[in-house]
Amino acid sequence: MSLREIYGSGPWGLSIEVFPPKTSEGDDGLRQTLRELVPFQPAFISCTYGAGGSTSKRTIDWCREIQDQFQRAATAHFTCVGSSREELIEWLAAAYRGGVRNIMALRGDPPAGSTDFQPTAGGLRYANELVTLIREQFPEMGIGVGGYPEKHPEAPNIDTDLLNLKRKVDAGADAIYTQLFYDNSRFFQFREACDRLGIRIPIIPGVMPITEFARIKRITALCGAAIPGQLASQLEAVQDDKQAQFEIGVDFAIQQCRDLLEQGVPGLHFYVLNKSQACRKILTALGLTPTASSI
Ligand SMILES: Cc1cc2nc3c(=O)[nH]c(=O)nc-3n(C[C@H](O)[C@H](O)[C@H](O)COP(=O)(O)OP(=O)(O)OC[C@H]3O[C@@H](n4cnc5c(N)ncnc54)[C@H](O)[C@@H]3O)c2cc1C
Repeated sequence: MSLREIYGSGPWGLSIEVFPPKTSEGDDGLRQTLRELVPFQPAFISCTYGAGGSTSKRTIDWCREIQDQFQRAATAHFTCVGSSREELIEWLAAAYRGGVRNIMALRGDPPAGSTDFQPTAGGLRYANELVTLIREQFPEMGIGVGGYPEKHPEAPNIDTDLLNLKRKVDAGADAIYTQLFYDNSRFFQFREACDRLGIRIPIIPGVMPITEFARIKRITALCGAAIPGQLASQLEAVQDDKQAQFEIGVDFAIQQCRDLLEQGVPGLHFYVLNKSQACRKILTALGLTPTASSI
């Protein structure tokens, strides 16, 4: 299914994000996760593109497997890192030949330890340039872009960041998928600010259920998402009990998703970190029933 067709008057659109594992055990684990989540009928499953282009081929291979073996539309993430314009076009052509029709178009991060993104010689500097390139070369591709309710870490302020988001929309993006967040009020403020700027494409919240507090502290420290004080205290109180952290995290995500859906979001994009258990519990609590699967 193309990103352009998912969000409309029908039920909210479910999407699930996974990453290409590094080992064959990881591959088997991801297949099992997909077998457990595909019955919830996600509109698409997206597969990330490793930092520095490290999963260039595997991202396409996984998208093909998702489409061929799991019968679900795939969205391939793609970044500007490490490729010239010609190499970007070559990769997009390979994805297209592999049947991929949706791209999550991203700039990518600077190398670990640096905050200064340097484009590759002959390459692109910002994601809006990648959106323009895809629109020029592969006009029928669906294009998702990243949005940051709590501001991209490199942006000097939220207003500048929003103007830069608008560049991606004006270049032809079909939908915005947000960075993870835990304070819905930040998302609603972001959505209103997008509306004031004339951004009219669907804005899909990114949800990462907390299953392990230490891990989520590392992730939020990198991306700048705030953990609400009450949630942080609840998790601190059980820092030696992983099962309790999982339960608190899942309960919180259920409430978070219910609130987002009540406030009319057109879809939910789950960062599942290649695991299914938390997401299954959340989707079931939201009233989704898995279909019988023959996979
Ligand atoms: C949904 C989602 C999926 C992701 N998947 C991946 C993945 O698979 N692989 C991966 O490596 N990373 C991924 N990321 C992380 C992403 O690559 C980083 O957040 C990266 O630092 C910024 O990417 P971007 O596409 O938002 O960049 P951009 O939109 O280019 O923004 C980067 C910074 O530059 C500023 N900026 C943007 N355009 C301009 C302009 N024209 N002039 C001046 N300033 C500008 C912005 O305000 C921002 O501070 C993902 C992020 C999200 C939200």
